[in-house]
Amino acid sequence: MPIQETESIWHNGKLVPWAEATTHVMTHALLYGTCAFEGIRCYDTEHKGPSIFRLKEHIERLFYSARVYHIEMPFTVDEVMAASREVITANKLGSAYIRINANLGYGEVGPYATSGPTDVSVVAFPWGTYLGDDALKEGIRVAVSSWRRSAPGTIPAGVKAAGNYLSSRLITIEAKKNGYVEGIGLAHDGTVSEGAGENLFLVKGGRIITPPHAASILGGITRDAVITLAKDLGYELVEQSIPREMLYAADEVFLTGTAAEVTKVQSVDDIKVGSGNYPITDHLQKTFFGLFTGQTEDKWGWLDPVNQA
Ligand code: PMP
Repeated sequence: MPIQETESIWHNGKLVPWAEATTHVMTHALLYGTCAFEGIRCYDTEHKGPSIFRLKEHIERLFYSARVYHIEMPFTVDEVMAASREVITANKLGSAYIRINANLGYGEVGPYATSGPTDVSVVAFPWGTYLGDDALKEGIRVAVSSWRRSAPGTIPAGVKAAGNYLSSRLITIEAKKNGYVEGIGLAHDGTVSEGAGENLFLVKGGRIITPPHAASILGGITRDAVITLAKDLGYELVEQSIPREMLYAADEVFLTGTAAEVTKVQSVDDIKVGSGNYPITDHLQKTFFGLFTGQTEDKWGWLDPVNQA
């Protein structure tokens, strides 16, 4: 995915020109993957103008990830939230991707380094669909990866840090090399975990099923939103272990994520999903996108308008 440069980046407390937001080659985060980060979407909503989706939850997850990896945060949650709104307005953006990095900075070598300085940046640039333009409507082809997600007690899968994404890289490269749009990682015990950068759901007999946190997933904020919307719409939703073969028997399969939003899965390992109809996924997708047109009431206060007036 190419980066679209914008004018300015919020870097350690102030806006600087894009080209000046640089870091040293010996930055700890580069050497050891010690970067807690977030990827967030800003939607150019019809009723509230540019609004960041679940900003607070994303920033709280950022602080959680930093805490697990002993990366000290030199700013408060409110300050990083304000910075996120500021980069959208400063760069005159509507629909955008916001990437926040908290890098363990320059100063020490060796994995033990705990002293900062932590280098915090908030970057935003324009963004459309992630998995291809037809992905949302037509669905995508996925394949189960030969790579497993990290087992409990190894690298914490529920934490969003750069080093964790070496696993995602292996899964997605394997899938793309074999002609698929995305790869699905299995958990350490061979049950279904998640996509390289998305959570996974299936529908069977009207019930919506998704793997639990213990299945080496990242607790996605979109996953949580879809669970909440599904329950609100009256669907039965269960979090349970999913054996691989259950994907082949599902009526519907879909992925969720900040990037993927709610994306249908057309086939798994070249086996067509269900009958090709996605009534429940369509309903959830419509309700999810309705949040950004005002058609779905935002009962949960998930939209954070950039203009706070
Ligand atoms: N799993 C992984 C591995 C991810 O990288 C992402 C994207 N952040 C997700 C799930 C979905 O999480 P969210 O809905 O919070 O973007």
